Amino acid sequence: VKLYNMDNWGADLFSINKKGNICVHPSSSSKQSIDLRALVDDLIKRKIKPPILLRFMDVLQGRIASINRVFKSAIQENDYPAKYQTFFPIKVNQQRQVVEAIANFGKRYNIGLEVGSKPELVAGISISTGNGLPIICNGYKDTEYIETVLYATKIGYDITLVVEKLFELEKIIELSKKTGIQPKLGIRVKLSSKGTGKWATSGGEDAKFGLRMSEIIAAIRMLEEHGLLDCVKLLHFHIGSQITKIDKIKTALIEGTRIYAEMRKLGVGIEFLDIGGGLGVDYDGSKSSYFSSVNYTVEEYANDVIYQIKNICEEAGVECPNIISESGRATVAHYSVLITNVLNTNTQHLMPDFEEILTQAENLAPTVKKLMDIYKSIDRYSLREDYHDTMQLINEAVSLFNLGYLTLNDRAIAEWLYSKIIKKLNGIVEKIKPIPEELQNFHLALRQTYFANFSLFQSIPDSWAIDQLFPIMPLQRLNQKPDVMASIADITCDSDGEITSFVGETGRTKFLPLHRIRKEEDYFIGFFLIGAYQEILGDMHNLFGDTNAVHITFNKKTGYLIDTVINGDACWESLKYVQYKGPEILKHVRDNLEKSVALRKISIEESSHFIELLDRTLLGYTYLGE
Ligand code: PLP
Repeated sequence: VKLYNMDNWGADLFSINKKGNICVHPSSSSKQSIDLRALVDDLIKRKIKPPILLRFMDVLQGRIASINRVFKSAIQENDYPAKYQTFFPIKVNQQRQVVEAIANFGKRYNIGLEVGSKPELVAGISISTGNGLPIICNGYKDTEYIETVLYATKIGYDITLVVEKLFELEKIIELSKKTGIQPKLGIRVKLSSKGTGKWATSGGEDAKFGLRMSEIIAAIRMLEEHGLLDCVKLLHFHIGSQITKIDKIKTALIEGTRIYAEMRKLGVGIEFLDIGGGLGVDYDGSKSSYFSSVNYTVEEYANDVIYQIKNICEEAGVECPNIISESGRATVAHYSVLITNVLNTNTQHLMPDFEEILTQAENLAPTVKKLMDIYKSIDRYSLREDYHDTMQLINEAVSLFNLGYLTLNDRAIAEWLYSKIIKKLNGIVEKIKPIPEELQNFHLALRQTYFANFSLFQSIPDSWAIDQLFPIMPLQRLNQKPDVMASIADITCDSDGEITSFVGETGRTKFLPLHRIRKEEDYFIGFFLIGAYQEILGDMHNLFGDTNAVHITFNKKTGYLIDTVINGDACWESLKYVQYKGPEILKHVRDNLEKSVALRKISIEESSHFIELLDRTLLGYTYLGE
């Protein structure tokens, strides 16, 4: 467990049981658990094939509850005179069942939804129908968008239109006059404060969204002129997702609250201060300001939010606002785990055994013989020199081969000796402290590529796009010392589809400790904390489609219940996306086959077998089967 730093990123939601399997808990304080390996075996018996995205709905609820709990206690501790509310930004995970679950469970906390486009607005209206969930609209808006919000407001939906740009406000005023409907308005402000990490450009003077101070003054005048100033109920800012340093959050809070206070003094009746998203997730457990981690806890975040806002409002002599945070990542990151099988590529038994050359070296080429001598004699005293000589000799072997002076067999023996030397060196180096600098990374030559049945581009695109770390662990054998240093390659035909950075015991490592897979053994790995952004950002590289998804709830009697199974894309669905039609494909191939049968290139039986295969492939999963 230490090797994977699970205790530090797992938020007490994961543990290892006596069998050495990883377990998930519904919340950090719960003793209930589900053995992930046993669950996967059960799902496979149900013919649900990997890769499978497991969505633990209790974990999701637990996160909503704990964010609200820490804000509640921060409010009590600081004697804050107003309320806190989360608005879930649905861009972080728009899956209907997920947003519905958030809405249903979050109702007790008065949760709302944040939307940023027309389709998201429609999704928000659909979820909010019947339960009165409030909605905040960010993002750019056209006439259709604004009119939809106005009419929805008229029939009772609680929707706040956030003004991102002055031209938007002109349109809103015009449409409000035309329809006679008064909107509930928010204003997004462009802070000079910036966040940190990969999304820092969402804040600062150059940010894409929000009004500058002079534009806020202009907006107030425009609204006053048209008798709509009373419609402004909310002030919003957002300085980026995954803010890694708490001091950046404090600076933004101070600036944002100062603007709120000044606007209140100008007579704008703002009731809500919406501090946006940015509450980070500790993906690697290092508690650092590196962008896959954060240097603060949710408790510290909530305390700072409440304390800073109260402090500034008291200083300025204005009423404290109700506080809204649009915390998406922190709400959904933990609840889903992608599990998949590692393809058993252990071909050790097929490899030629060159062991005999160690005793009969007469016919070896001189370069290869020198490598063999190093292998036999290497010890901790000759370590560095032998390492240098090995590197030189292996390069020499390649050059000699290219010039025609070394046979394929000799080159294969050189390769075999090289890996034996590196293994022996590794055994010696592990015992030396401190490890000489140039020998710190040579063991990566021993790293083996493990092929896993998934697409990096579909399931964890941020790993590829922005080098984000996600915890990855085997689901089983965690009571056995791993014996392989692995990288994880996906099954796309793209060299970028390989993970070579992992969460390790003391930070980022360049290999994942895994076990040598035994003959006939099924070996599964899990990708953790992938519930935020990954599902929707995932793309269809190589036409690998959505994975199977299973919604699971904890159950005291049976351990778990399967709520929903959502089938992943079949091949025909991926093909349809790029304008191919399954029946047409079958027809064309069938026509072609008939010609081949007529020419006796293929028998009727073979032809029908081929059509059956094609049909099955079209209907089947895009990922690898047996
Ligand atoms: N609100 C707005 C306006 C955003 O742009 C974002 C994402 O960047 C969020 C909320 C969600 O942020 P996070 O997932 O960091 O909570």
